[in-house]
Amino acid sequence: MKSLTGLSIGDAFGQQFFSPAAEMIIERRGWPAPPWEWTDDTAMACSIVRVLADHGVINQDALAKRFAEEYEREPGRGYGPLAHGVLRRMIDGDDWREAAGDVHYGEGSLGNGGAMRAGVVGAFFADDIDEVVRQAQLSAAVTHAHPDGQAGAIAVATAAATAFIHREATLIEQQGLIFDACLSHTPGGATREGIKMAAELDLDFDVATAVAALGNGSMVRADDTVPFAIWCAARHLDSFEDAMWTTVSGLGDRDTTCAMVGSIVVLSDTSFDDSDWLAFREPLPADFEIAVKEEC
Ligand SMILES: [Mg+2]
Repeated sequence: MKSLTGLSIGDAFGQQFFSPAAEMIIERRGWPAPPWEWTDDTAMACSIVRVLADHGVINQDALAKRFAEEYEREPGRGYGPLAHGVLRRMIDGDDWREAAGDVHYGEGSLGNGGAMRAGVVGAFFADDIDEVVRQAQLSAAVTHAHPDGQAGAIAVATAAATAFIHREATLIEQQGLIFDACLSHTPGGATREGIKMAAELDLDFDVATAVAALGNGSMVRADDTVPFAIWCAARHLDSFEDAMWTTVSGLGDRDTTCAMVGSIVVLSDTSFDDSDWLAFREPLPADFEIAVKEEC
């Protein structure tokens, strides 16, 4: 699945730029030495793709089980502090509804973890936007009970589906369509407000201006991550490589912003050749051999 390839490359790429010298290396577009290890973004997206391959829809019980199994197998993949708690409880046999629902004293997580893995949902259901919205919400809710944590997933999935469906349109048309679709389908709240601001922000502005206005994921919330990712993706729908360098130059939660952007732009940049990137990215889990919807 292309979207998973883009997501995992973005995740692994972004993760290479947390060193003190990162800004200097980004400035001259220096490719870090391989292997680029992927993180929780990719681990969880793989679990989603497995469930979609097995069930054809987001079966939340199956997804919670996959998330927990994958976490137990490799807990050191960079999961966020809240995710550790939720996934640990699932391993211990707690129902995911309770584990996710108890976060933040019962408010649920509004972090960016639901959104970081949602591009693959958008790609899978791309021909039915209502289903994209429904399934993205279900996929996020397993760990993110707060509506805004789910809104972030809906926005990223909608952007990915729109990027795929309109991949033959002109860049200007695609940019308008992505923002229109995200604003039409993302439920009200802080994340949608941020996307509205992103839609009004000139795509020619420098990245620092966009970060100042939209955030860069440094709060690890959906609303300070998703609007910036959608802006970066919209700016570079025709170039996966430019999308990666622009996104990572925003710093912040850079594995996750690059994962989101990668999962979207890989679908619209029809001339993208992934071979160089895959030579640098750590392979996906050894037993991960699922041929599902290769075209998206
Ligand atoms: Mg990560």
